[in-house]
Amino acid sequence: MSKRDYYEVLGVSKDASKDELKKAYRKLARKYHPDVNKEPDAADKFKEAKEAYEVLGDDQKRAQYDQFGHAGPQSQGFGGFGGAEDFGGFGDIFDMFFGGGGRRRDPNAPRQGADLQYTMTLEFEEAIFGKETDIQIPKEETCETCDGSGAKPGTSPETCSHCNGTGQLNMEQNTPFGRVVNKRVCHYCQGTGKIIADKCNTCGGAGKVKKRKKIHINIPAGIDEGQQIRVSGQGEAGVNGGPPGDLYVVVQIKPHEFYEREGDHIYCEMPITFTQAALGDEIAIPTVHGKVKLKIPAGTQTGKTFRLKGKGAPNVRGYGQGDQHVKIRVVTPTNLTDRQQELMREFNEISGNQPAEEQHGTFFQRVKRAFKGE
Ligand SMILES: [Zn+2]
Ligand SMILES: [Zn+2]
Repeated sequence: MSKRDYYEVLGVSKDASKDELKKAYRKLARKYHPDVNKEPDAADKFKEAKEAYEVLGDDQKRAQYDQFGHAGPQSQGFGGFGGAEDFGGFGDIFDMFFGGGGRRRDPNAPRQGADLQYTMTLEFEEAIFGKETDIQIPKEETCETCDGSGAKPGTSPETCSHCNGTGQLNMEQNTPFGRVVNKRVCHYCQGTGKIIADKCNTCGGAGKVKKRKKIHINIPAGIDEGQQIRVSGQGEAGVNGGPPGDLYVVVQIKPHEFYEREGDHIYCEMPITFTQAALGDEIAIPTVHGKVKLKIPAGTQTGKTFRLKGKGAPNVRGYGQGDQHVKIRVVTPTNLTDRQQELMREFNEISGNQPAEEQHGTFFQRVKRAFKGE
């Protein structure tokens, strides 16, 4: 069997840092761990990655490998081929990920159920004011008929005689370097360590059933796009009597046709006529809290922004209340009637046919300077 290059196995370059190596290895280990990946070649790939990392992750071994490769005289001592060494690695990979604990994972130990994620789409106003609602989520629950054992009521699962309940089998192999013992997931019991002779009719032996469960959710006022609500204990059922996982409700907010939101503040653009802009007016502005009157001073320009204090969204953690920012857009009138045109001309005349730059001072002077700069 010709071995693949260790760097190639981990998918890193020859000058990869220790950190890169570690990351690459962890990624592969997660992907191919035989407890997770049931593909027939997963265990081999896992072993291959582990071996590559054992060498490249060690400065001295890496230097030897770089110099001599797989065939080098120095390479025999590592990689787990040094004799009848058990390098199954189910235990230590879990040690690595979960920071210690037992050397070997016990298939009968209680394990927490998986977390669930649910995406909820809210209307713009719902996110601002909060909402109480029920959601239906498909999830696995402990089977009530068998109480999660998977066995018909009155019977109980038996310890797997092939693996003695450990969920793992020793596979022995003779290699030129000696006898190698390799641990594999027991295929008689699928790693559970138990054989169920009389399967529960409700769950077919799984101990869990898929159900649509109604869960009451309380959306706090002021929640923002992408924020999530954790509902403790509403994830998937635990294994072997372990606690259930949690449910995470991730919030998406539908865009609004008038308002935009940024954090606790709401932004909008308000069109006004040029007469309102020139003469000033009091106008009604829609806010999520109802209409608010806003005084537009005479001579208001397009782009001028007014702040309506406290008319935004409440802070989701209770730190005050955002504002609404109203940006004014002056609309140039179109399709003028004859009479309107006449009045406009008259307006222009009594303005003394003043060129625009004299009417509007510095702004037009800046424009003029820009033209000269061409
Ligand atoms: Zn059942
Ligand atoms: Zn077994």
